[in-house]
Amino acid sequence: MSDAGDNTRKLQALDRELLWHPYAASPPAGEIYPVTSASGVRLRLADGRELIDGMASWWCAIHGYNHPVLNRAVQAQLEDMAHVMFGGLTHPPAIKLAQLLTRITPEPLQRVFFSDSGSVAVEVAMKMAIQYQYARGRGNKRKLVALRQGYHGDTFGAMSVCDPVTGMHHLFGDVLYPHFFVDAPDCPVDRECPESQMTQVADLLAEQGEQIAAVIVEPVVQGAGGMRFYSPDYLRKLRALCDAFDVLLIFDEIATGFGRTGKLFALQHADVTPDILCLGKALTGGYMTLAATLATEEITATISAGEGGAFMHGPTFMANPLACATAIASVELLLSQPWQREVQRIENALGNGLAPARELPQVAEVRTLGAIGVIELREPVDLASVQPRFVERGVWVRPFGKLVYCMPPYVMSDADLATLTGAMVEVVGQLPGG
Ligand SMILES: *Cc1c(COP(=O)(O)O)cnc(C)c1O
Repeated sequence: MSDAGDNTRKLQALDRELLWHPYAASPPAGEIYPVTSASGVRLRLADGRELIDGMASWWCAIHGYNHPVLNRAVQAQLEDMAHVMFGGLTHPPAIKLAQLLTRITPEPLQRVFFSDSGSVAVEVAMKMAIQYQYARGRGNKRKLVALRQGYHGDTFGAMSVCDPVTGMHHLFGDVLYPHFFVDAPDCPVDRECPESQMTQVADLLAEQGEQIAAVIVEPVVQGAGGMRFYSPDYLRKLRALCDAFDVLLIFDEIATGFGRTGKLFALQHADVTPDILCLGKALTGGYMTLAATLATEEITATISAGEGGAFMHGPTFMANPLACATAIASVELLLSQPWQREVQRIENALGNGLAPARELPQVAEVRTLGAIGVIELREPVDLASVQPRFVERGVWVRPFGKLVYCMPPYVMSDADLATLTGAMVEVVGQLPGG
C-alpha cells in the first residue's frame, strides 16, 4: 500500500497544482482519485482499489472499458491512418459510419456532419437551423426555443439554450444571445401529455413564430439539467406545433442515444422525426470524442443552394478516422447483441435496487428509465464529503445538486448492480435529514 499510496499522493499533488477539472474550482474542493486503468465495469485506482463504475464515464462507456472489439478497431485503423483532414478528402470510416447512422435513425435524416464534441454538434445544429431559415428568405427567424432544465453543452451557443438558472446565464449577461425558454413538460413517461402542458410553447410559437428558427429539446430524458423524464406524447404534440408555425425541430440525443432509455434512440418512444438530430457521448463507446449532427435532405439542399453555397463550419478534426472506426465498431457491437434485453435487465435491477430509497426521509423521488437510475433528494448533496463514501464502498457515483444517479455500462452484472444500488441507498440514508 505504501508505494501505491505515495504514488497516489504524488499524482494528487501535481494534479492540484496543474489542472482544472469539470465544473470545479482549481484546485477543486474535494479529493480527486487517480485512475491507472479500467476494464469491464471497473476503474482501477493508483492505490490498487477497484471501483464499480456507475457513471459509464458520463453516459459514454456503454460496453465497458478496454473492450477487445473496440481495441481491435482502434489498432486496425491506426495501421492505416490516425487522422487526415476532411476538407477535399474523404475516407472509408466516415462513409461507413454515415451509412450506419443514416440507416439506424429515421429515414428523412440523410446527411451527417461530424464534429468533435457534443457541444459542437449542438452549435452545428443551431447554425444549420438559422442558415436554413436565412437561405429560404426567412432571415428574421434567428431565435431558438429551449426547455427550462435542459442541458445542451458548454460552448456559448449551446450554453445559450441551457437552463438559464443552472446554466448561470446571469454571469454572462449580454454576451449570451437571448433565446426563448418554456417550462419543461411535467407529464409522466407512461401517460399522454395533456394539452395544458403545451399552452406555453403554443402561445410562444403563435406570437413570436416570425422570429423563431427552431425548437431544441432532449427527447424524453433531460440529462445534466435535472435528470427528468417526460412523456413522449409531448414530442408528438411539439412536432405538430413546429409544423404549424414553420419552425424546425432539433432533438439533442447526445445523452439518450444508443439504447440508454430502452430504445435505440429516445425519439422512438414517440415515433417522431426531428429535422435535425445531435448524437455524441456513447457514439464511440466512450473511447474518444466524436459527435454527429444529422439533417434532412431539405435542410441540406436549401443551405447548399443559399447565399455562399456552403455550410460555414469545419472542425480541424472533423470525421477523425480513428474515432469514426471506433464508432462503427461500437454501434455494430451494440446492434449485434440483444441490447434491449440487457437494458431491460438493468432497468429492473435499478428499479428493485433503488426502491428502498423511497422510504428514506432525505428522498423526494426515485425514478428509473432504461439504464438510468435517479434518486432525487430534498436537499443538495455536499459532493466533497459524499464522494469518499461511495469510493469506500467500492463504487463510482458522482452526484450533482439534489441528484444521486447512475447510468451504468450495459455489461454490468446483476451482482455489481446490486452493490452499486445498495451503496447509493446506504449513502443517501446517512445524509443529514435522516
Ligand atoms: C453531454 C451533452 C452535451 C455536450 O456534449 P460534450 O461532448 O460534453 O460537449 C450536449 N447535449 C446533451 C444532451 C448532453 O448530455
